[in-house]
Amino acid sequence: MITSVEFERLADIHGPTGGKILRPSDGKEAKNIAFIQCAGSRDENHLRHCSRICCMASLKQTHYVREKYPEDGKSTIYYIDIRAIDRFEDFYQKVQSDPSVSFIKSKVAKITEDEHGNAVCHGVNTEGYKRYMTPHDLVVLAVGMEPSVKGINIPGHIVADSSGFIEADPANGAVFGAGCASNALDVNRAVQSATAAALRAIQVVNKVAKAEA
Ligand SMILES: Cc1cc2nc3c(=O)[nH]c(=O)nc-3n(C[C@H](O)[C@H](O)[C@H](O)COP(=O)(O)OP(=O)(O)OC[C@H]3O[C@@H](n4cnc5c(N)ncnc54)[C@H](O)[C@@H]3O)c2cc1C
Ligand code: SF4
Repeated sequence: MITSVEFERLADIHGPTGGKILRPSDGKEAKNIAFIQCAGSRDENHLRHCSRICCMASLKQTHYVREKYPEDGKSTIYYIDIRAIDRFEDFYQKVQSDPSVSFIKSKVAKITEDEHGNAVCHGVNTEGYKRYMTPHDLVVLAVGMEPSVKGINIPGHIVADSSGFIEADPANGAVFGAGCASNALDVNRAVQSATAAALRAIQVVNKVAKAEA
């Protein structure tokens, strides 16, 4: 069982396996892969928020499996609901029509290991209420995003939302959240958010400079 970030590294030709999807436990080629969505997100006990990018990241990662193993690669996505934001709905539909990708609407209840070292996912498919016990070569957890500002000692009291992301609140003065410090965002939105934060900072500097002139 690995995280989506580790899977991204495995699939990378500049990564530790030269782009081969090898199971870390025994080095076996992993061709039948389970992606488990909302691993820790949308959960009162862990991260309450939807991390917004992990559905898209897993949909993208099914492509890696098909590209590496066009003949016998297989992906199974276990999900509560798929959140493909904005224009990415088309991409979701494209992946849905790929016969090498299956979607199981279910929260996996338990993962065990069989005698071949495979990870066996247990649960109930809520579309039809069928129990499953399905072996996979590898399980990838679509882990969520948590703001790292939690551990940083920022002077003063910073207004953050219930998940710890910095709010755009006048009480924060000249401290602005940028990128994933302000929300769980994809690269495009992180760049937009960081640009907006930088522009606001420039406005503050100009305002102070004018006042002092
Ligand atoms: C598996 C996966 C696949 C993804 N695929 C895509 C994709 O295909 N397309 C897409 O648009 N988005 C994708 N994303 C989302 C994308 O990674 C983020 O949107 C993006 O990285 C956000 O950029 P950021 O600069 O806000 O945060 P980050 O990239 O997390 O950068 C924050 C940086 O701050 C550093 N840092 C943290 N704390 C401190 C500290 N205290 N002091 C100093 N430095 C610190 C960190 O080390 C890090 O380098 C994916 C995410 C995941 C997890
Ligand atoms: S983006 Fe998808 S996997 Fe991630 S928390 Fe939201 S619904 Fe769950």
